[in-house]
Amino acid sequence: VARVGVLALQGDVREHTRILAGLGADPVLVRRPEELAAVDALVIPGGESSVIDKLSRMFALQQPIRAAIAEGMPVLGTCAGLIMLADEVLDAIDGQESFGGMDVAVRRNAFGRQTESFETTLDVPALGRHPVSATFIRGPVVERVGAKADVLATLDDGRIVAVEQGALIGLSFHPEISGETRFHERLLDRVRR
Ligand code: GLN
Repeated sequence: VARVGVLALQGDVREHTRILAGLGADPVLVRRPEELAAVDALVIPGGESSVIDKLSRMFALQQPIRAAIAEGMPVLGTCAGLIMLADEVLDAIDGQESFGGMDVAVRRNAFGRQTESFETTLDVPALGRHPVSATFIRGPVVERVGAKADVLATLDDGRIVAVEQGALIGLSFHPEISGETRFHERLLDRVRR
């Protein structure tokens, strides 16, 4: 059974642990370096990236997470989690840092305010024929995709909202809120490889 950490500093941690448990994985809340060291993969939830950044430094998790990413640990980041995985963050709050790992630039809050949240369906060819139902809540958009990263999904207007690089998956939206499990399954698949 894959032990999958959910970074539990801030954000929608519980939705992710539910989906992981439903898939037969063993979800582990990660707040300390020792907890990170004991997992096979990591989910970085949605929330507020500047807060996740600040707390991860306060809890001495920033460097261990960067090292785990560099060593190839599979990581799924949703919304704020995608921001944390991006090498470059546009419209960052003063001094905000990311873990990095994905050769992409993302712009925070690219879809406007909380009240402009929306739900839509997306074609994600990598996940098969059935469209993904995606919830956007003040999500980021991917504005640059470097040579090492791949686009997994775009909106109808062409804006990039899902990317992948090796064992890293980054989503602008929240599959965990709409009950979409296939990105978590893909993460578990990366653990098995
Ligand atoms: N706007 C948030 C941020 O910049 C992300 C929103 C979310 O995770 N739903 O971190």
